[in-house]
Amino acid sequence: MDLPIAFRPASCDRKLSPVEMVKSRHGHRDSPKARPPYCSSTYAAIEVTCPQSCRFKAEGCYVRAGFTGGMSARLDDAAIAQRMTPDDVTRIEAEWIKAAFDRGRIPQDGARGGRDLRLHVGGDVSSTQGARWLAEAAADWQRRGGGTVWTYTHRWRQIRRAAWGCINVLASVETEHDARAARARGYAPAITLRAFPSERTFRVGKLSVVPCPAETRGTTCVQCRLCLDRDLIAMRVAIGFALHGQRTRRVRRSLPVLACLPG
Ligand code: SF4
Repeated sequence: MDLPIAFRPASCDRKLSPVEMVKSRHGHRDSPKARPPYCSSTYAAIEVTCPQSCRFKAEGCYVRAGFTGGMSARLDDAAIAQRMTPDDVTRIEAEWIKAAFDRGRIPQDGARGGRDLRLHVGGDVSSTQGARWLAEAAADWQRRGGGTVWTYTHRWRQIRRAAWGCINVLASVETEHDARAARARGYAPAITLRAFPSERTFRVGKLSVVPCPAETRGTTCVQCRLCLDRDLIAMRVAIGFALHGQRTRRVRRSLPVLACLPG
């Protein structure tokens, strides 16, 4: 059976954890090879699990381009061919996390000990039940010595924050208004902007935004750890992401123009 999810024991996404670009044996483009500290990750079928309201779903989702584009398309095809619901996909994602590393101890080669786990780099969760399944899998991951489990969701309006358990989950938003609404529901906001006005903390209206250091300084998530371990609600900041070249002009135009000021 083709699977609608992928589990990567050691992520080769240079935003998540360090990678080295190595020459391919077949003379094609260089490929990323994971380097310590390591991080694990999952990918889920975007077509089935992400809401239609996501501005990036149809075009502009970075997971559907570059090194992950082919794999992401295969996950979509598998989910669609088997007529899976979003919950079907999430249940399989949770089962794979529980089965990772032969259900044994998680390797202790992460940035703070056990490997951290980034949930569905591509994909989302559609229901409270789905968030609970992943919360159970995340708790199991940590019982086996794993590190922080973190992710982002567009479904912060539908799913109560408590359903995510020990998962560090940020709300994906595109406006200051939604950032405030997400925070009121217990979610730290991650806001996508057309561009950063500064590489230092800046304001979008009354919202303080820290531009993602992976985008401004080339660090990685497991080294930065703002989304992993910090209490962004208590810090009263949002994490900012900027659109990049591979995102289309149409997506860029669909984002509101926000007045940004130095922090
Ligand atoms: S703010 Fe830090 S942890 Fe969050 S996405 Fe950017 S690099 Fe990763």
